[in-house]
Amino acid sequence: MVNAIAIDPGFGHGWGRKGRSLNPPVVFCDFDGPIVDVSDRYYQTYRMALSALQTRSSKTGISLSLQPLDKQHFWQMKQNRVPDIDIATRSGVPEERFEEFLAGVTQLVNQPALLHRDRLQAGVRWALSLLHSQGIRLFLVTLRCQEQAEEILRRHGLEDKFVAIRGTGDRTAAYKNQSEHKIQLLADVMDEYAIASSESAWMIGDTEADVLAGQTNRISTIALTSGIRSHKYLMQFSPTRIHSDLLSAAHYVVYRAETASATVG
Ligand SMILES: [Mg+2]
Repeated sequence: MVNAIAIDPGFGHGWGRKGRSLNPPVVFCDFDGPIVDVSDRYYQTYRMALSALQTRSSKTGISLSLQPLDKQHFWQMKQNRVPDIDIATRSGVPEERFEEFLAGVTQLVNQPALLHRDRLQAGVRWALSLLHSQGIRLFLVTLRCQEQAEEILRRHGLEDKFVAIRGTGDRTAAYKNQSEHKIQLLADVMDEYAIASSESAWMIGDTEADVLAGQTNRISTIALTSGIRSHKYLMQFSPTRIHSDLLSAAHYVVYRAETASATVG
């Protein structure tokens, strides 16, 4: 059981010594999914966009028979990447109102009132502390607005666990989740900190964008099922590993680094 491995407290201090690995482990970690649970915000956004559509329709004398999905069903559909248009159809949104409904979702999802619904995932504090204490360099690489990510990490006292936090200036990028954007962002951070492609560098994230970013930049990848994609969906992208959450992934990275170090030394 990877989770049960005992960790040598002195392990993290040996990197770069004679006989040790020349590639100290590095973890690039995504934000939404591994660190933050956004499921409540996304669900509330969906419910509010439906309500707004209903209200506007009533004002013009049109009564829509909307049938909101429950949170579990909604999140299952998101995890299996069911298109938003299909979610709208299942919720009773008529075809001629799709565009209006989707525009409402995009406009609402980054509203400050809804951003406060984001919560830290269980075990995140332990996971980041474990990696940090083992001398593993941690970078945050997210399509979330950088200021938002910094503010949330600061609020939880986790900012100092990271060597650097890199996000975007675009408040809608995380919702669009563009793979190309993530690939480039990871490449830029690796360039900036002169980190070579290697098996001891890991990209940990919850979507295909994270897996593709790691694979394109030739580092190992761990896909997490604690976010917005299902196990079945993530399997298609052949990540190096699939774990349930960041804590489980952190234990594995530490285990691998320890094994590599013992082999080299
Ligand atoms: Mg994510």
